[in-house]
Amino acid sequence: MGCTKNENATIAKKGSNGLDFNPWDAMEPRAPGKTPREMKNGAPVKTQDVAPEGVYRPDYNILTPHMRSPEYVQMSTAAAITLGLAQGRMYRCSCTRCLNLLLTYPEGCRANCAYCGLARHREAERDYADRNFIRVDWPAVPMDVIVDKVASDGENSPFHRMCISMITHPRSDEDTVAVLKAWTARIDPEAIPVSILSNPTTMGRADVKRLKDLGADIFTVALDAATPELFDRTRGKGVQSPHKWSKYWEVLEDARDIFGPDKFGVHLIAGMGETEHEMLSVVQRVVDMGGHNHMFSFFPEEGSLMDHLPATPRDQWRRVQLGRYLIDYRGARVDQMRFDQAGRVTHFGLPAAELEDVIQDGAAFRTSGCPGKVAEDISACDRPYGDSPPSDIASYPFAPDKKDIKKIRKQLGIPNRLV
Ligand code: SF4
Repeated sequence: MGCTKNENATIAKKGSNGLDFNPWDAMEPRAPGKTPREMKNGAPVKTQDVAPEGVYRPDYNILTPHMRSPEYVQMSTAAAITLGLAQGRMYRCSCTRCLNLLLTYPEGCRANCAYCGLARHREAERDYADRNFIRVDWPAVPMDVIVDKVASDGENSPFHRMCISMITHPRSDEDTVAVLKAWTARIDPEAIPVSILSNPTTMGRADVKRLKDLGADIFTVALDAATPELFDRTRGKGVQSPHKWSKYWEVLEDARDIFGPDKFGVHLIAGMGETEHEMLSVVQRVVDMGGHNHMFSFFPEEGSLMDHLPATPRDQWRRVQLGRYLIDYRGARVDQMRFDQAGRVTHFGLPAAELEDVIQDGAAFRTSGCPGKVAEDISACDRPYGDSPPSDIASYPFAPDKKDIKKIRKQLGIPNRLV
C-alpha cells in the first residue's frame, strides 16, 4: 500500500455551488451501515489470534495479527520513516519532529466519528490496525522497540516531542498511563516532552491529574467540531457515536486547572459545515481560557462517512488558518475582526502593516500543534500532508518559501503587498 490516500481527490478553488466555503447543508455525513455480528469488535483478529512478530506494516490483504496496547502502539508513517522503521521519502521534508503514537486494539476505537478513518463502522471492511488515519497508514510497533531506539539516540534524537493519542476504548486510560510510564522510565521528559491527545468520553478529572503527575507536559482535547450541533452531527447521536460536547468541555476545564496556561488546548477541523465566525469564536474561547488551538483543514478521508464530501476550499481554510494564528499568538480578538453575512472573515482586526508582517513571516500557515524546540508558535507536530495532498498543501510541514507565500496570498485574496 502507498502511504498517502485519496491522492486524486481534488480541492476545489470553490466549494459546493461555487461557494468559497463549505456550508452546513452541503456537509451531511452518510449514515453508518450495519456490521455483521461476526465482524464486530475485532472478532476475526481475536478468533484467529495470530501472534505478532516485530513491526507490522498495514496490509489489508492479510489477516492482522493480534496486537494490543500497551505492548504495541501504532505510529504515523512519518514517524516510522524518521525512526528508520519504514522506507520512504516525504515531499520537501526530511523527517518529522513529533513521534505520534496511537493506542491499538483488535476492537479498535468504539466511536464512530464521521470524518475519521479509524471509526467503528469500518469493522466489516478493514481490521483496525489496517485503517488509514489522517491520510496515511499507521504501522504497529512494539513499545519496547520504540523506547530502545529513541533512548539509544539520546541527544541526537530527531524528535522534539512525543504524543500519545488515545482512542475510545475501555482500556484506553490505563494503557495511556502504561505507555507514558514505559517512556519516562527510559527517556527524560524534559529532553523529549510528552503530549496527550485525550479521549474525554472515558476520562474524569482524576485521570487528567494522574497523567500530569506522571510527567505529561501538554494535554489536548480533540474537540474537532466547532459547534454543539456539528459535534452531535459528526461525533455524537448523528452517527451512533458516544461523544458529548459538554463532556469534552468539562475535561478541557479540568486540563486548564491541572496543566495550567499554555499547557492545554484543543484540536479543531475547519470546513465541516461551521461558519468562519463560529470557528474563530471557539478559538477565542479557548485562548480566553489560557489554552491554544491546533487547527486542521477538513479532508475527505477515504473510507470515512464524509469521504464523498468536498475538502475545505483553500479560500476558507486560509482565512481561518490566519485568524487562528492571530488570536493564538498575536493578541487579535474575534470581536475586533469583521465578518460578512455568511460568517466569512472580511477584516482580521489588525493594522495592515502588522497583518502584512504575519503573512510574509509564514508561520501562520504551518501545521499547528504542540511546540517543539524552535519557538512557541512552531509546532513539533508537523503531520506532513495529514490534511492535504502535497500538490495543494493546507498545513505546511515546513517554513513556506517565497513561492508558497505567493500562492497563499492568492488564496487569501491578498495578492499584492499592502504596504
Ligand atoms: S474518537 Fe478519535 S479515533 Fe475514535 S472515531 Fe472519533 S476521531 Fe476517530
